[in-house]
Amino acid sequence: MKVKKARSLRNALMVAGVIIMPSAYLYEPLFFVALAVTFSALIPHFLYNKCPRCKKQLGRNEGDFCQFCGQKISD
Ligand SMILES: [Zn+2]
Repeated sequence: MKVKKARSLRNALMVAGVIIMPSAYLYEPLFFVALAVTFSALIPHFLYNKCPRCKKQLGRNEGDFCQFCGQKISD
């Protein structure tokens, strides 16, 4: 999976978790669904949000270049 796709998947999962969370007030088990969705956002983040050249974790870097080696992050 490409970095940019992993980032958008991660963001989508985070947003989905935040949206589901308040519905736990109405139906309690949804709290765990929201947690599972939110934490599943960490999977693309840690597995695919990496530099294609030096393989370092890009962390909070949302830019187009690796902050370690300057490699352009392809889409
Ligand atoms: Zn790099």
